[in-house]
Amino acid sequence: MLHTFAAGTWDFHQQQLHYLVHARTHNFEYVPGQLEVIDRAAKRVRLAPMYGADTAIADTRELEYDVLILAFGSRADDFGTPGVAEHCHFIDSQDQADTFNVHLRAQVARSVFQNRSIDIAIVGGGATGVELAAELSRMVEFATGYGEVDIRRRLRVTLLESASRILGAFPDAVATSAAAQLGTLGVDVRTGVRVVAADAQGFLLDGGERIPATLKVWAAGVRASTTLDKSGLKFNRAGQVVVQPNLLAEGDTSIFALGDCASFVPEGSDRPLPPTAQVANQQALHLIRHVPAWLQNGKPVPPFRFRDLGALVALSDYNAFGTLGRFGFFTGRFIKGHFARLSHALLYRRYQLALHGTARAVLLWVAERINALVQPKIRMT
Ligand SMILES: Cc1cc2nc3c(=O)[nH]c(=O)nc-3n(C[C@H](O)[C@H](O)[C@H](O)COP(=O)(O)OP(=O)(O)OC[C@H]3O[C@@H](n4cnc5c(N)ncnc54)[C@H](O)[C@@H]3O)c2cc1C
Repeated sequence: MLHTFAAGTWDFHQQQLHYLVHARTHNFEYVPGQLEVIDRAAKRVRLAPMYGADTAIADTRELEYDVLILAFGSRADDFGTPGVAEHCHFIDSQDQADTFNVHLRAQVARSVFQNRSIDIAIVGGGATGVELAAELSRMVEFATGYGEVDIRRRLRVTLLESASRILGAFPDAVATSAAAQLGTLGVDVRTGVRVVAADAQGFLLDGGERIPATLKVWAAGVRASTTLDKSGLKFNRAGQVVVQPNLLAEGDTSIFALGDCASFVPEGSDRPLPPTAQVANQQALHLIRHVPAWLQNGKPVPPFRFRDLGALVALSDYNAFGTLGRFGFFTGRFIKGHFARLSHALLYRRYQLALHGTARAVLLWVAERINALVQPKIRMT
């Protein structure tokens, strides 16, 4: 839901999970810190020193492990494109989404006071870019409701994608419908264009065209979010840990990797599974199921098999498109409209249910509904 925090249409304070509290409630130990080094011979990991508000909070620490499960996720990849790191926003973490929102609100205020356009360009027509573009449209709609009737006319969102269509990981029908919906929202979807540089004024395309933008978002590419160069593990070009069929890191007997940071190629395929929550979730469940038995009596962890439950992309409250899983009666069927939107909403609630249990998940939902009645629909401060 990071794109909703970025657009300011959802309050992340209500949604965030506090690991410390979660750990206490669910009987695990949470150690804050950033994994820096893995010493595979000694079976130890080193955590980097921690700082907060210019204060050293914790020194370097070491932890021992019997089994290490790496799940450090991924971030967008700028492929070394000049100017991107300096001039673009990324929406890979809550902090980044928050920073983007601060700049977005400044642009909206400037537009109101100075009657200026809000030019936003997003690079990457994957789910993140598409969902963010739609959410920005929703944000100005709410702003219009608060009296800024002209603001929709002043918002210009351009979505830039190098492939011949957006949503490359989704079936054609989903991509076509999503592109059409974005068109009705006024988003300028440009496919088959390659960004070669970014600067303060916008993006430069291969061929010399310039895309002016005061706010620039980079939501393309995937790169593992941590480098563990000296660990001796095997990585692919995107920095993901190459894993065996049972998710053990290649060349190791006690380090597993899952989710976005792992490169898992299913049997019979030549491409790794995509970095999605569905894959991460299923891999986590696989290890939860099998690692305890392996530790207790040496029963090997069996190969992981991915079950494609389908894919959904939601264009804010406007519409949602997707496909159902490739098995059973509805094999791969295309869905849209209310059913797809409801399915998307339920997916999120399902995660909340898994994290918090029924009572708390229901209470969270009720609190959200009440807040929606008494709070502004967009983030104001
Ligand atoms: C804006 C956005 C929208 C998305 N929408 C969808 C969607 O609609 N559907 C979908 O299936 N997927 C979506 N995804 C992808 C989905 O979020 C990921 O596939 C999923 O979160 C991967 O889970 P993970 O556990 O592998 O990694 P993450 O959820 O990224 O978790 C990794 C964690 O590891 C921490 N970490 C990183 N490095 C270190 C380190 N060195 N030491 C300690 N901790 C570390 C990170 O801070 C993070 O908390 C979206 C992603 C983004 C950014």
